Amino acid sequence: MSTLRFHAIKKSLSSKPIPLEEKERRSDLFGKNVFNENTMRQYLTKDAFVGVMNAVQYGKKIDRAIADQVSSSMKDWALSKGVTHYTHWFQPLTGATAEKHDAFFETIGNGMAIEKFGGSQLVQQEPDASSFPNGGIRNTFEARGYTAWDPTSPAFIYGTTLCIPTIFVAYTGEALDYKTPLLRALHAVDEAATAVCKYFDKNVKKVTSSLGWEQEYFLIDKTLAASRPDITLTGRTLLGHSSAKGQQLDDHYFGSIPSRALNFMRELETECMLLGIPVKTRHNEVAPNQFELAPIYEEANLAVDHNSLLMDIMNRIASRHDFKVLFHEKPFAGINGSGKHNNWSLSTDTGVNLLAPGKTPMSNLQFLTFFINTIKAVNEHEALLRATIASASNDHRLGANEAPPAIISVFIGEQLTKVLEELEGVTKGKLSPQEKTELKLNVVGKIPDVLLDNTDRNRTSPFAFTGNKFEFRAVGSTANCGNPMTVLNTIVAKQLKDFKVEVDKLIDKKDLKKDEAVFNVLREYIKSSKRILFEGNGYGEAWEKEAKKRGLSNNKTTPEALKSRVSKETIALFEDMNVMSKIETEARYEIEIEAYIMHIQIEGRVLGDIARNHIVPTAVKYQNTLIENVKGLKEIFDKKFKEVSKEQINLIEDISSHIEGINANVTKMINERKQANAIEDAEKKAHAYCFNVKPLFEDIRYHCDKLELLIDDEIWPLTKYRELLFTR
Ligand code: ADP
Ligand code: MG
Repeated sequence: MSTLRFHAIKKSLSSKPIPLEEKERRSDLFGKNVFNENTMRQYLTKDAFVGVMNAVQYGKKIDRAIADQVSSSMKDWALSKGVTHYTHWFQPLTGATAEKHDAFFETIGNGMAIEKFGGSQLVQQEPDASSFPNGGIRNTFEARGYTAWDPTSPAFIYGTTLCIPTIFVAYTGEALDYKTPLLRALHAVDEAATAVCKYFDKNVKKVTSSLGWEQEYFLIDKTLAASRPDITLTGRTLLGHSSAKGQQLDDHYFGSIPSRALNFMRELETECMLLGIPVKTRHNEVAPNQFELAPIYEEANLAVDHNSLLMDIMNRIASRHDFKVLFHEKPFAGINGSGKHNNWSLSTDTGVNLLAPGKTPMSNLQFLTFFINTIKAVNEHEALLRATIASASNDHRLGANEAPPAIISVFIGEQLTKVLEELEGVTKGKLSPQEKTELKLNVVGKIPDVLLDNTDRNRTSPFAFTGNKFEFRAVGSTANCGNPMTVLNTIVAKQLKDFKVEVDKLIDKKDLKKDEAVFNVLREYIKSSKRILFEGNGYGEAWEKEAKKRGLSNNKTTPEALKSRVSKETIALFEDMNVMSKIETEARYEIEIEAYIMHIQIEGRVLGDIARNHIVPTAVKYQNTLIENVKGLKEIFDKKFKEVSKEQINLIEDISSHIEGINANVTKMINERKQANAIEDAEKKAHAYCFNVKPLFEDIRYHCDKLELLIDDEIWPLTKYRELLFTR
């Protein structure tokens, strides 16, 4: 083993777990560092409290006087907890979170100072926006953007800073972040779903979208990770031969959590409790050193904020425990990648989950309405949904025979499939009294029982119904959930809006009863959405063929998938639902294409560097040792020399051929990069990176990984897979 690797491993093994005493109950810690409803009751005047709650619940504007009161109380609360700074906390399109801290401290002349935080500072700030991605929305001469308070996500204290969740928009009003379109989409789905709910219950005034994410990640020793330039710069291993033992024994999944990892998790969970992130589940995942963390689901906007915050906290706490967290969708070849399932549902302010079957035939008809409309929305916008989760890193899962596939389909289980089949047979137009009774008794009346034993879960499905929610499983582990949540809620909003129009038309024009009209429209939806339903194995080649016949898209790479982000239909959809203007939609596309290009470009540079400057010199060094050895053998054995040194000479030749393979392919890759870089058009450039540059990674890697097997372990420069994955 090389001295570098030896010391890295030694350091890793000597890393002491930091034990954590949990003196307080978690429920007592929960939300302690959040300016939540409970805290507001204590700190705010009645007027201010009512003002904020109206904003949270009904989107009412907060006037200036109220904002002044709120900011002043927030400051008092924060100061009582040792806070010195405040920041607007937002999610620009870089994928990370952003913050710029300002002290409360202000001088007031005469050598005196006070702590101050006014309403204007709470409500709006102007970070220098020119260094965040904007997709051409702002020309640099007017590189101004501002952040504005989102009262629906409560302020929180992290470290000694008061963080205020905000949206981030250009001065001209266009969104420059994930939160702004999400809030608009949540508003759209609220409006559309509430209107539909009124068919079933007039008391419904608001529908909320919920999200429960499941975050998968790898934990790798910090020193070992730092010894790999590829992990350091790209978040994944660009080369490395698979370990003799990988995940084939399945001995990690749900196994006992290693103590160092467990200590990390406990500290992380304590911090989450303080910040009001309701984390609940932790377990080992399939791959060695892979884990999952899931909270109790929350209102979607808050859940998205909490996931972004969590990823940030995880990085910081991991470092204290000498770990590096890998969020990348595929850090190691040949081993499971990481995803972030987005569990999604809609619920009313009367406490009904619209995606859970109810107790009466009427509530089940409501359930079926939302269930079938969601299926139809996915069917109509499957390509857009795929595009929403496209990224250079997620391509390693979706395009590469790993669950889930790049083809979007919906899994609903055997029992619900039967229910839909029966509904499909409903008579057109008016229903006879017998048919109505029949439907009530045997179709909508029976759902609760059947769902209880709806246990067959298809793990290969990218979009599955799991009893009381849909689970969007194709989302990548690095993703900001705001993106898929914006699209999912928008397409469902649009679908529900169309549904309402169609049902109303049948009631008015054909004189149908409300439930008759609903049955009639749903029947047609079931017929026209059939192609999206799939219960089989999503990895299989058979499904690829079948999906093609059904006309479903199968975009394996990001540049291909992203196209539907800017299709005519998508632009119209977002405009129609007031979620994004044409400019905003196009800007996002541009940002995502650029990000793709840059990721592949960086990977190409890093790989070229490692192959040429680390692997080839090592191979040459070892080859020289072999050559010296052969020369020595010749001296001793003279005539018999050929026979004795046959293996060494073969090895020398093998090494030469791999060195040649590396050099030839790296040269080819550099040339392809140069050609790609010369392309002006971003879309064409991304295609060049995808189809001309990236495929060479595999060829370069092949030769490097072969050399890893040939060369003396003593001098191999890179920490090996077995060391990264099994050192604890
Ligand atoms: P798994 O999918 O791993 O079997 P569960 O189905 O129990 O796990 O839950 C996974 C996630 O789904 C959790 O974050 C949970 O809070 C969330 N979840 C459960 N019910 C709902 C719902 N009605 N709406 C949204 N998310 C939900
Ligand atoms: Mg799940």
